[in-house]
Amino acid sequence: MQPLGAIEQHGPHLPFNTDLLIADSVADAAVERVGFEHDVWLLPPLAYTKSNEHAWSAGTIWLSADTLLRVLDDIGRCVAMTAARRLVFMNGHGGNSALVGVANRELRLRHGLMTFLAHPGVPPDQGGVSAADEHGMGIHGGTDETSIMLHLAPELVDMDVATRNVPEALVDNRHVRFGGSVGFGWLSNDFGPDGHIGDPTTATAERGAQLFAAAVDAFCEALAEISEFTLPM
Ligand SMILES: [Zn+2]
Repeated sequence: MQPLGAIEQHGPHLPFNTDLLIADSVADAAVERVGFEHDVWLLPPLAYTKSNEHAWSAGTIWLSADTLLRVLDDIGRCVAMTAARRLVFMNGHGGNSALVGVANRELRLRHGLMTFLAHPGVPPDQGGVSAADEHGMGIHGGTDETSIMLHLAPELVDMDVATRNVPEALVDNRHVRFGGSVGFGWLSNDFGPDGHIGDPTTATAERGAQLFAAAVDAFCEALAEISEFTLPM
């Protein structure tokens, strides 16, 4: 299993390594619990990934889509040299998902691996849920992500500077919205100068503990299915 993080701005209240820490923590906890049972081998996390929606922010360190695709291919080629025939990406950064989907098919074709994409929580703009008053737009540094960080690393969270930043103008759109039937290209500073999108002010460590436990439970279940998964031909 390969955790994918990100080093990218997450608003003034969260650290740059938020996605890295969450993905790696979920992967670690799941492997600790069911790794032996399902013969799961944990690779070191890939910290830098495709975060160019945050390219405007100093401190964001990102790989281009082309570079990340090549890195994932290199990782897959090396994994294919081992006895492993399955490669699972535990992806903490929603901005990677589309590209990892492309990579998974390339890895299947080029290296014969069975490939999988999992998230700590499905991103709200990809069919997941978001806190009720975020109108499905808590996609970056919002209630849930901030809550998980308050649970995992409260010393890295500064709630004194957490502010609500929900793009209310999109609420009335039926189609063109996060998770709507019509997608749109966006950069995080399209929604304001702070860079987060969601409402971190309602985050709590208790909510974070529940979300983290649920993420680990779900991923352990998923690993059981992945280990048994077969294709018809
Ligand atoms: Zn994040």
